[in-house]
Amino acid sequence: MRNSTADVIVVGAGVIGSAVALELARLGMTTIVVDRTGGAGHGSTSASSAIVRFNYSTWDGVATAWESKHCWEKWAEHLQFRDSAGLAAFRRTGMMMIDAPAAPRERIMPLFEAVGIPYEELDAAALRDRVPGIDTGRYWPPKPLSSEDFFADATTEVGALFTPDAGYVDDPQLAAHNLAVAADHLGARFRYNAAVVAVERHRDRVSGVLLADGTRVQAPVVVNAAGPWSGALNRLAGVGAEFTVHVRPMRQEVHQVQAPHGYNGAGSLGPAVADLDLGVYFRPGSGDRLYIGGTEPECDPLEWLDDPDLANPNVTVERFQAQVVRAARRLPDLTVPNAPAGIAGVYDVASDWTPIYDRTDLGGYYVAMGTSGNQFKNAPLAGRFLALLVDRVEAGHDHDRDPLQYRCEHTGHEINLAAFSRKRPVNNNSTGTVMG
Ligand SMILES: Cc1cc2nc3c(=O)[nH]c(=O)nc-3n(C[C@H](O)[C@H](O)[C@H](O)COP(=O)(O)OP(=O)(O)OC[C@H]3O[C@@H](n4cnc5c(N)ncnc54)[C@H](O)[C@@H]3O)c2cc1C
Repeated sequence: MRNSTADVIVVGAGVIGSAVALELARLGMTTIVVDRTGGAGHGSTSASSAIVRFNYSTWDGVATAWESKHCWEKWAEHLQFRDSAGLAAFRRTGMMMIDAPAAPRERIMPLFEAVGIPYEELDAAALRDRVPGIDTGRYWPPKPLSSEDFFADATTEVGALFTPDAGYVDDPQLAAHNLAVAADHLGARFRYNAAVVAVERHRDRVSGVLLADGTRVQAPVVVNAAGPWSGALNRLAGVGAEFTVHVRPMRQEVHQVQAPHGYNGAGSLGPAVADLDLGVYFRPGSGDRLYIGGTEPECDPLEWLDDPDLANPNVTVERFQAQVVRAARRLPDLTVPNAPAGIAGVYDVASDWTPIYDRTDLGGYYVAMGTSGNQFKNAPLAGRFLALLVDRVEAGHDHDRDPLQYRCEHTGHEINLAAFSRKRPVNNNSTGTVMG
């Protein structure tokens, strides 16, 4: 690749970097996106369960997810460009948030009320009516399979908080591709198989990046959208000393099994379920499949990584058993196959499981990182937040002193970007899990 220049370099063509590129291109900024893989969405985005839900621990987090849902619902309109590879689709299944002390419904309902998100409170009988075959036993706290208590009978029952508008996006990698080609259509350039090995500075500002093949890309603005590699990129840039929130990569597995008979109705899908009572989440998928992930129950070891590239790319028997057997407690008709099937991926976990969308103390260097296994759904807004930040901060606005507010196109809400600041007080209301 020849040396080149642009207004902005985005490092990472995942769903976040591609969304950022689209919004920067819409502002008329010449944008180059570099990614070390061979295409858009080939990083952690490709492993995403892509669930669109609204229960976060802060008003701004909930409002961001609610606004983003409207973007997914009107995806063609959001993109304003039709990808010849097809469009990712939002499937509205509704979501059951099973009662659990780690995320009490009393904490989330006021946020839903304030943001205007429809919900229903279900007791155990109503939950059984809505989800065919569900076991409404209360098993809290989650236990390892090796524990004698794992198969102990439930003593009481759980209900759930139901949000009818939740669902999932059927192809997360295609969603990133959709954003990338829409950005490309507006003039953004994507350079694949292009690994950043150095972030360059001129005086107190960033000035560009150096690629592994020796070429230089120069720009006065660089956006770190490197997913689980974001911490490593910050280290290359010498950025991070002022951050109160830190990131660390964590390996995860999502398993795929046949959905139990009757879970999906004729022509309709069963709901997504977040079950902190047992330590799993699951959602339906095409071909009558059920995707099962974990919610970091305290009884399980967490797979922290020093380097995301060292993550075992294969699903393991232990994790498969742990997650699928837990799901089978909730759905007793679920068959647990002998051979594990699914996908391994890596989260970019922030100290409080809340993302960082911000400028940094290095002039011109911005971050869209720390997405903590829960920001696929918010990519449309992450793109808009970063475009607002770059546009206004480069024009001289002091975002640290006077945080920018984002006015939502669909819901009219105003989101305070201080909620995603690198220097925020760590969010103590977070569940400390992927739920945020
Ligand atoms: C298993 C799993 C399940 C998930 N489930 C959900 C869910 O249900 N709902 C939800 O909302 N979110 C979910 N998430 C989270 C969501 O998928 C992520 O937050 C999102 O995909 C992150 O996108 P990204 O663009 O930041 O990162 P990535 O997709 O990882 O993109 C970063 C890109 O940067 C590139 N890169 C890194 N370093 C360099 C470098 N030095 N030079 C060049 N390129 C570089 C990488 O190649 C990569 O393509 C899940 C994540 C995982 C892993």
